[in-house]
This record gives sequence, C-alpha cells and structure tokens, in this order.
Amino acid sequence: MSKILNEVLDANKSYAVSFGDKANLPMPPGRQFAILTCMDARLDPANFAGLAEGDAHVIRNAGGRASDDAIRSLVISYKLLGTREWFVIHHTDCGMETFTNDIMIDLLSRSLETATIDNSGWHDRGQGPGSPEGKYINWLTIRNQADSVKEDVQRIRRHPLVPQGIPIYGFIYDVKSGKLIDVPEAIAAGRAL
Ligand SMILES: [Zn+2]
Repeated sequence: MSKILNEVLDANKSYAVSFGDKANLPMPPGRQFAILTCMDARLDPANFAGLAEGDAHVIRNAGGRASDDAIRSLVISYKLLGTREWFVIHHTDCGMETFTNDIMIDLLSRSLETATIDNSGWHDRGQGPGSPEGKYINWLTIRNQADSVKEDVQRIRRHPLVPQGIPIYGFIYDVKSGKLIDVPEAIAAGRAL
C-alpha cells in the first residue's frame, strides 16, 4: 500500500473514534452559507473561516473560479439545501496566475508528465506523447486577483438561476498572513438586490 494511502486510512481511524454527535448532523448546512474557493493546499476554509462539520458548503476548484460546475453546486446549495449568503474567495500567490490557456495547451500537447517552472516560465521535459485535448478546456486562469474575484462575483450575481436576494461577498485570502482581504468592487458587485 502506498505511504499516503496508509496515512490517510490511519488518520481516518482516529477521526472516527471521536466522531460522536456528528452522526446526528442534518444534511443542510446549519449556518446557511457557502464558500467558493481555490483548491490550493495552503487554504483551509474550516480554519480560516471558523467552520465545524455541518456548518457550511465549501466548493473548491483550481482558482475558486465561478465555472459552470461551481455554479451548479451553488444553485443546489440554495435551492435544495437553503444557503442564504455566499463567499467567493481567491488568494494571493495563486498557481492560476502562473500560466495561460495557451501555455497549458502547449504543455499538455508535449507530454502528460508533471511540468516544471523556473524564472523563465513553465517547461515540459516529460516523455511524450501528450494530447491535443487541452485546447477544448477553458482553464480559467487568473491575471489579477481583484479582477478575477470581481468577475466571478459578477458572473454569479447575473446568473439567471441565482436569486437576487443572496449577497455574494468577494475576498482575497492572503497566504502570508492568513487574513481575508475584502475586495470593495467585488462586494459592491455582489450586493443583494
Ligand atoms: Zn489558487
């Protein structure tokens, strides 16, 4: 068995020993809110936003972008599970700022191995073949954090399946301080109508 697989299963055994009352948690989030944020391993929404099991929905993808699939989850979150307020949280030093669609398409066309990055950018030194499939995906990269948060809040705000009464708050999480920094243009764009 892989080292990681063992570690995860051991950790889970310990977790389950003290699971206790969590067995009785209802499915709808008790504090009626949702967070859309990046999958970055340095971000721990449970800790930085004070969540316990059962409190809130946390939807994560690369960049915390308002992709169609993120919106699918948010719509389910309010329509079926009753959330009333949403956060969009991007972060400093996001990997999504390090490449563009064209760079990703090129890297994937060369090989499917892990690429490397240095001061001159991304390089693919893997054994091919790669695949041209990368060009059919919009990788939703980021050029400027404040702009991307505002853009995503706006996209969600204007979406026909999102009710006007849900406030959407836009923030940037600072990976150097652990602080949430508000993005005034995003907060304004996400105001409940
Ligand atoms: Zn990120």
